[in-house]
Amino acid sequence: MTTATIEAPSRLSWEQINQTADMLAVVAKHVPETRGHWNGYMTNEVPCPKCGGKTRFRLRLGHNGLMMAFCSHCAEAGLTPIRYIAWYYDFDLKTAADWWRDQHQVTVKVAVPMKQQEHKPLELAIALRCHNRMDVRARDYMHARGMNDHMIDHFKVGYHTGFKRYSFPLIIGGMLWGIQYRLNPKLEYVLKFLRLFEHPERRVDIKRYVSETGSHNHNLYARDEIQDGDVPLPYAVLIEGVPDVVAMWSQGFPAFSTFQGNNRAKPWDVAWNKYLAEIETIYVIPDNDVGGSGDFFASEKAKAIGPRAHIHLLPKGYKDIGEFIMADLTTAPQRLADMLHLPPLKELLQ
Ligand SMILES: [Zn+2]
Repeated sequence: MTTATIEAPSRLSWEQINQTADMLAVVAKHVPETRGHWNGYMTNEVPCPKCGGKTRFRLRLGHNGLMMAFCSHCAEAGLTPIRYIAWYYDFDLKTAADWWRDQHQVTVKVAVPMKQQEHKPLELAIALRCHNRMDVRARDYMHARGMNDHMIDHFKVGYHTGFKRYSFPLIIGGMLWGIQYRLNPKLEYVLKFLRLFEHPERRVDIKRYVSETGSHNHNLYARDEIQDGDVPLPYAVLIEGVPDVVAMWSQGFPAFSTFQGNNRAKPWDVAWNKYLAEIETIYVIPDNDVGGSGDFFASEKAKAIGPRAHIHLLPKGYKDIGEFIMADLTTAPQRLADMLHLPPLKELLQ
């Protein structure tokens, strides 16, 4: 895990306790079965010390990048460090907080996940490792999705062998702000099946997206690229999927997306409009999904961007722009040009 070390204040607030507690070390003492099973994202499922369920208890990173404990039977919603101690020892929360404060008194330096440090970039090496070690099969998969080597190398797309996921780093100004690890959709079904037989220690979590610890995902993907060059782009295409952005550039169409995905709570940040200011027209292409999250994507984004935004719907039968590209790679640039009524741009990101 990417961590920084800070001095522990003499009296930590509850929030500070939850952010700085070394939960892994404490839980490993209480539940020795977890020891050594942390893969940077979660521990294996082990017997629960409370309800005795045989494979119910595990630690994992929550959405906020902080570690939480779960038991699928008796702690389904997840336990922060304070709640974990209260749960484990049957303390009230105040006593549990004091317990953690006692722990912190003996530790002057505490490890803090990078997440809570304001906008500190990650080490670029994390992304480059995945990119540089990627094998031919991973590249083949990306080629099949319409990405070419030039853009794969430009965006430093890679493969994380431990996570069994493609890595899409968010690099802005030469610095790494986050990585999305995306499970190969073809593997998803295989893993769900294999999981039934696999030794617990070898198990891979089958969540589709995982973020690198400490990622700041609330940003635009390809933000530098759409502003690159001496002459502003005549247009850029806003789409939903990060991998499809790389595929669009590979076909000659400048594209970007929000890196955090289709986040309903924070669909757009007005501060991003300045990155688009020079671009004449923004084409917004929502996914064609039943249930209307695509409509939401399109209308929210178009509203935020203003009159330069034009919503463009995909032809029926295609789930998203990626599927449209993949339908026939040899004709993809021409079909995109016909659909968008736009020419592909030559010499993008040379
Ligand atoms: Zn339990």
